[in-house]
Amino acid sequence: MAARAFAAHQRVSDALDRGRAPAASTVVSLSAVHKVFSDGDRRTVALEGIELDIARGAFVSLIGPSGCGKSTLLRLIGDLTPTTSGTITVNGKSAHLARLARDYGIVFQAPVLFDWRSVQRNVELPLELGRLPKAERERRATEMLALVELDGFERHYPWQLSGGMQQRVAIARALSFEPALLLMDEPFGALDEMSRERLNLQLLRVWQKTGTTVVFVTHSIPEAVFLSTHVVVMSPRPGRIVDIIDVDLPQPRNDLTREDPRYFGLVTRVRESLRRRDTHAATDTS
Ligand code: ADP
Repeated sequence: MAARAFAAHQRVSDALDRGRAPAASTVVSLSAVHKVFSDGDRRTVALEGIELDIARGAFVSLIGPSGCGKSTLLRLIGDLTPTTSGTITVNGKSAHLARLARDYGIVFQAPVLFDWRSVQRNVELPLELGRLPKAERERRATEMLALVELDGFERHYPWQLSGGMQQRVAIARALSFEPALLLMDEPFGALDEMSRERLNLQLLRVWQKTGTTVVFVTHSIPEAVFLSTHVVVMSPRPGRIVDIIDVDLPQPRNDLTREDPRYFGLVTRVRESLRRRDTHAATDTS
């Protein structure tokens, strides 16, 4: 695989960077992003001062304790919820315009497939909504199903597939309109460990073949390290970015990667970063 730009970095100096245009290779750029949920008198500050640039081709995992705002951050990038303040650009456009331009595909923990449509027709659905001609829809759906190694299952229905296979259909569907950015919210969270490890490998193959940029939410430190070029560590609520760890393990990764001492070292580094933040949070509130 050709050398890829895997530079993702937190813009540490807010003052210096304010007003700076994102580099051409930047797919996602977040600047001074805050998110507050208001429900009557109750205010929940979910995210505070998020600064993050994600370069084209990067695989970035968001990790942090439950409730720290990982899903919220993903949803802000995907324009599924508005920011309270701050700026988000995707491919140089606002998140809203990027959604309208179909710059991203989204995969959630539950695959959300339509039981009455075949696997093939589930993958074709976004293309139907995009009014692509039938022959082109079929060609793309077949290609995407082959990419997630589900060729031969085109005429099956979702209820005839395992959970892992259903999630692969959801990934094929998200990729069907060739988005520049794939947003994934704990897509393998409901699966057993062996299925999860197999799907991790398949996802990496898809990522390498398509060159799409991925933002991936997970609770699993080993999964984050195995998959990512960068692991973004978040603090307990209100979620802030406390660390960005470069995962410089060789590509392509495979089962041997999980036995590499550098892999264990990086898992420990992420764990320590999370623990440090938990300790600080406990001190802050005492
Ligand atoms: P994570 O994905 O890290 O577990 P979330 O992003 O789901 O965390 O949630 C971050 C915080 O924002 C939590 O305290 C959660 O209760 C709150 N929150 C998320 N969505 C909403 C919502 N729609 N309304 C009110 N509070 C919300």
